[in-house]
Amino acid sequence: MLESIQLSKSFGKLKVLKDMSVQMRAGQTISLIGPNGSGKTTFIKCLLGLVIPDSGSINLYGNNVLGGWDYRRYIGYMPQIGRYPDNIRIGQLFDMVQEIRRGTYQRTDDDLLRAFDLPKLAHKTMRTLSGGTRQKVSACLAFLFDPDVLILDEPTAGLDPVASEILKEKVLAEKAKGKLTLLTSHILSDLDELTTDVMYLMDGQLQFYQSIQALKEQTGEEKLHRAIANVMKQHPAA
Ligand code: ADP
Ligand code: MG
Repeated sequence: MLESIQLSKSFGKLKVLKDMSVQMRAGQTISLIGPNGSGKTTFIKCLLGLVIPDSGSINLYGNNVLGGWDYRRYIGYMPQIGRYPDNIRIGQLFDMVQEIRRGTYQRTDDDLLRAFDLPKLAHKTMRTLSGGTRQKVSACLAFLFDPDVLILDEPTAGLDPVASEILKEKVLAEKAKGKLTLLTSHILSDLDELTTDVMYLMDGQLQFYQSIQALKEQTGEEKLHRAIANVMKQHPAA
């Protein structure tokens, strides 16, 4: 349903993405992993149209969406760092976003809002929030319009273990509904139970993209992080 074809991006002389071609399907929960600076966020931003690739294309439901914007209604995005106006209150933020999206969405999903107990904090201004609460706000916004595709950039970073579990449960629930989720993390053990497929990016180059099942069979390892470490040894970076 979502596909990148030979996506490349440089910032100045630095090649950050190199010919990234991947196909992603409904029902997959894909963990995009790789060291810091390997291009994960850049890839995600290309999919969202927030970074314009130098070459390549992006298809959603078979249509080329590069340069478009309307397709974003199908995608919920949780940025690695959510930026919000300092003085807006949480409640106002959600009202505002819903007002902007009025007419373009079918239904809203506030399960996560309630699970995080955010309505209780509706009067708090964004400026006063801890990093973790800010992350919760970002997560809730990503799921709010019940999108077909979820793109979560380091979703569990900064969340306490309870919040992290709640978010994971939500991703699983959406997967059961047939959603596609693409998420990044550099903490592998975090994602063990969620992931159906792993994409490994290194220096902007896709090293492998495999189902968990195949990965575990190939390496004989049950633990995801061991299986990945094992495959990484077989695919030394060029
Ligand atoms: P990751 O998310 O895997 O940590 P990023 O995609 O954020 O990696 O960054 C990949 C590389 O691209 C890094 O070297 C980063 O410094 C560089 N980079 C990212 N965005 C920009 C930008 N807007 N301008 C210049 N360099 C950038
Ligand atoms: Mg990143």
